[in-house]
Amino acid sequence: MSVSDSQKTKRIIRRPERAQDFIVLTVGSAGLLALLIASGALGIVEGIMAAIVLIAGALAYYVGSVPPAPRIETIGEPSGAESDVGTSIQALVHALPFPACYISPEGRVQFANQQASSLFRINKIEGALKSVIIRQPDVLSATERVAQTGAGERIEFQTGEGDELWLAHLTQGPEAGSVFIVMEDRTAVHRAERARADFLANASHELRTPLTALAGFIETMLGPARNDRDSWDGFLEIMHQQTDRMRHLVADLLSLSRIEFSEHRAPDTVIDFSEVLSRTILSLQPIANDANVRLELSGMDRPIPITAKWDEIAQVVQNLVSNAIKYSPADGEVRVEIGMAPSMSEASRLATRHRHEATRSTLLQPRASSEVPAAWMRVEDKGQGIARQHLSRLGERFYRVDESRGGEIEGTGLGLAIVKHIMARHRGGLAVASREGDGASFGVWLPVAEESEDQDDD
Ligand code: ADP
Repeated sequence: MSVSDSQKTKRIIRRPERAQDFIVLTVGSAGLLALLIASGALGIVEGIMAAIVLIAGALAYYVGSVPPAPRIETIGEPSGAESDVGTSIQALVHALPFPACYISPEGRVQFANQQASSLFRINKIEGALKSVIIRQPDVLSATERVAQTGAGERIEFQTGEGDELWLAHLTQGPEAGSVFIVMEDRTAVHRAERARADFLANASHELRTPLTALAGFIETMLGPARNDRDSWDGFLEIMHQQTDRMRHLVADLLSLSRIEFSEHRAPDTVIDFSEVLSRTILSLQPIANDANVRLELSGMDRPIPITAKWDEIAQVVQNLVSNAIKYSPADGEVRVEIGMAPSMSEASRLATRHRHEATRSTLLQPRASSEVPAAWMRVEDKGQGIARQHLSRLGERFYRVDESRGGEIEGTGLGLAIVKHIMARHRGGLAVASREGDGASFGVWLPVAEESEDQDDD
């Protein structure tokens, strides 16, 4: 037997053993990773990174090229082993659901998936120098460190106009000096964290203001004004207003959290929008009388079936109509109109018609198709209106235009946020049209109940 023949035989004998080792190694590692991910000890992204490295290592072993580490050449004819490893890495990078790339020891982006091209906003990434593609200095220097030391790193970076936050996971690849980068979009998580922190700060601030006032009056009544009973009536009046303010705030916060909790569950009962409106308006009539504001109603003469939660739709009516009364001048008029339209887009137009030319802002885009028949409501007042720059921010929690007007009208800044959440749950929309000095029209619209549901209810 010649030397080459004996080598060939050796190769043939070793292959099944290596195949067995490869399968045991891969299945064992996959099992271990699954256990770690299931127990929460490892995140999904870290798990995927570890899986890539383990599979690439196992493949490299399988094709008989460890040690030494395989070289993956892009220029010239690759050997069978090298092209096997290269093909596997390429397949892995392209199969990942996140932006991912593989940096060769020469510092080029050897493989990159479509998501990475979109993230870096460059069509052809593969083959380019990493410094041309990765324009975040922190990530670039981390690739150098990982290539040299082999120790994995995680680096946060911003893209877009600074409004997107990403986390780059860098791990050494199977070749010495190569680096895998997988990028995780943290924008939504980051925004949610910031919104939660803002919300807590705002809620505590709003509660602290009336509490400080109450504490101040109690101290005065126990101290300097202890024997001046005549001044107590005035103090008690203000204390009563402040406790009322806290009560409203706590009630609004509770409504908001209750609605948020059930936002992902669509309502399933068919109710009559006209009936909800006429009953809720009845309960608002005394407030309108106190403020000397006339309520003009129209469109309630026929049933409008909607798949909705009664209490929540009543709250939408209450919040919008009580705002219109609150922001109307004495002797003012609030018009409330409801109706049905052949499509959501037509309903959206009708819901924000305004007496005169006005600026319109959609505060919530409906999730329902724009083609389905829809119910709509418009609440129009003749108050001082809202300046154009504030319109798109209405519906943000605690956003109040009045703060800039000197805060002469009491409010929590949560009423419209509640309306927005309720309409989102009902797959509906919310919009406003207004011109400063010329009143405001707030409109909501949502799909009408399907006929089958309508009949079920009868
Ligand atoms: P608030 O409890 O402060 O009324 P909302 O969330 O209901 O909270 O409203 C947010 C802000 O939008 C209000 O502070 C007010 O500045 C403005 N706003 C709401 N409705 C009207 C309206 N009909 N006319 C003028 N401004 C309004």
